[in-house]
Amino acid sequence: MTVDARYLKDWSGLTRGVPGEVHRPTTTDEVAALVRDADQQGRKITIQGGLTGLAGGAVPDDGDVVINMERMNRIESIDEVEGIMQVQAGATLQQVQEAAAEAGWFFPVDLGARGTCQVGGNAATNAGGTQVVRYGTMRDSVLGLEAVLPDGSVVTSLTRLVKNSSGLDLRYLFIGSEGTLGVITRLMLRLQPDPGAPATALVHVPDTASMALLLRHLKKTLGPQLTAYEFMSAQFLLRAKDLTGVSLPLSGDAPWSVLIQASGLAGMDPQVALESALEQALESGTISDCAVASSLSDAQKFWRLRECIPELLTALKPTVNFDCGLPWAEMSGFVTEVEAALKQKYPDAVHLFLGHLGDNNVHILTGPHGPSEWLDVEELVYSALRGRQGTISAEHGIGFLKKPFLGYTRSEGEIALLKRVKRALDPRNTLNPGRIVD
Ligand SMILES: Cc1cc2nc3c(=O)[nH]c(=O)nc-3n(C[C@H](O)[C@H](O)[C@H](O)COP(=O)(O)OP(=O)(O)OC[C@H]3O[C@@H](n4cnc5c(N)ncnc54)[C@H](O)[C@@H]3O)c2cc1C
Repeated sequence: MTVDARYLKDWSGLTRGVPGEVHRPTTTDEVAALVRDADQQGRKITIQGGLTGLAGGAVPDDGDVVINMERMNRIESIDEVEGIMQVQAGATLQQVQEAAAEAGWFFPVDLGARGTCQVGGNAATNAGGTQVVRYGTMRDSVLGLEAVLPDGSVVTSLTRLVKNSSGLDLRYLFIGSEGTLGVITRLMLRLQPDPGAPATALVHVPDTASMALLLRHLKKTLGPQLTAYEFMSAQFLLRAKDLTGVSLPLSGDAPWSVLIQASGLAGMDPQVALESALEQALESGTISDCAVASSLSDAQKFWRLRECIPELLTALKPTVNFDCGLPWAEMSGFVTEVEAALKQKYPDAVHLFLGHLGDNNVHILTGPHGPSEWLDVEELVYSALRGRQGTISAEHGIGFLKKPFLGYTRSEGEIALLKRVKRALDPRNTLNPGRIVD
């Protein structure tokens, strides 16, 4: 059987083998039958969502049975009164956002891969994105779900209740489990009131420490109006300008820029609130310059710069990508140490820093690095996380690529428990074997 090349890899660039079969089921019963047969025959399954993952989790091995969820993409129902959507797991994030908007609601999880990634994949990786500072991660937007277990049985836990204290919350077994414990087939999603048109600004920040001070100031002055706080290094912005053709909103030099978004609350204009907060930050010297978008098209240009990740991944490929998590207080020391070490060891590569400070997340994109270099680059970055109370993955997941480093930020006890849970639910190691833990 010839397998279409698009089922062989995700956005991490990792390839491992050619699957024996690729199935694209349309119902939970079809998924259950596929899983049951594979489990009984001792076959291994790789689950695929939109294949935008950056940790290699959806990349199949030779002979695998691939279950690709792209045809399970129906929006099943929307409760327009309570703001709840039931959806099949293969619906894309953008499809869900648009359906919510049509119903007068808002789905707050948002990331650059929105047109291709699926809500099942977002739940499996506990995706974050740009609005976590206000709405939390995917975990906070899922009320209930349905999953097919490794033996082919179906657990339907499509609760639509915010509060439910009747025993363990089973959705959390699957959210963030990266397909190792079950195939997520349907989800009950929590929608939010439409916040209306946001206000957007790009500011220059003189140093890393000021980024944390600015965030504290904006949290205090804007409260829940603050919906995005995206920092970018000067080198990142210059590359973004070249790749997108969008001119930079601010001239002059600054080591860091932050893209800030504030959304409305009843009776409060986000533009007025954001401008006033930024004026205070200018006076105190926390920022050195700022540009507030005066139109939707301005705001879109600011975001275009921040969201040029696909172009960067292509221009610098093969890249090594990081989504480390750290307490704010550790961010400055970590960035300084890692940047210096990367520059010294790989002077010919490009090293770019950006992230979502509000949710403790710093991304590093470095390349080009041939596959033989990947482990050394990872060792360099992850070893700097030790002792800093961080995580090797704030939002992309562990997959195959980060598995060797899980012990750098998770304790022995935690890893032993992850293994026990996997063994209890999947004794024959059928679903997504080799991801997260062995
Ligand atoms: C340009 C770009 C920007 C990105 N920005 C962000 C960002 O801001 N924040 C962020 O968190 N991520 C980001 N990502 C990473 C990626 O989009 C997310 O990890 C996303 O959640 C993956 O969804 P997917 O459907 O593509 O999953 P896939 O890549 O197909 O799979 C990811 C993992 O989930 C498993 N899986 C997929 N579907 C299911 C299912 N139905 N049931 C069980 N397991 C399943 C797979 O086996 C695999 O282990 C970005 C990626 C790109 C390319």
